[in-house]
Amino acid sequence: MQEPVDEIRTEPYGDAIRRRVCPVCLDERVDGECARRCLIMRHLPAVVDAIRAVDSPRMDEYIAAVESAVCRSCGQQAPDGTCVTRDRAECTLATYLFLVVDAVEEVKDARAATRTPGTLVVPFPG
Ligand code: SF4
Repeated sequence: MQEPVDEIRTEPYGDAIRRRVCPVCLDERVDGECARRCLIMRHLPAVVDAIRAVDSPRMDEYIAAVESAVCRSCGQQAPDGTCVTRDRAECTLATYLFLVVDAVEEVKDARAATRTPGTLVVPFPG
């Protein structure tokens, strides 16, 4: 069982996500307004917790974990589990989830390496 991440400890995850998602995100705006609307950043602690709890080569397991932990409390999801925002590809979390998973796994692996004696530690950028 992993400890839940708080706001401060999510910062490296947020940085890694921004490095991977923002350059390809169709919503990216130079005025920073997108960061205030971004559903990834709005739900960041729950997103990180959900992804860290999964260790699988299967993307559907990450999708199920995120939908269970995040979508239920998002306010956009209908009682039957459907989400118009997701269906319209207007949810950054759903649209870029594969990149978010890569980013979270990258930070998780880097942190695990720093705790393993004898492991060569490459400084984590950012
Ligand atoms: S898929 Fe829908 S319910 Fe889930 S985070 Fe995105 S907008 Fe919210």
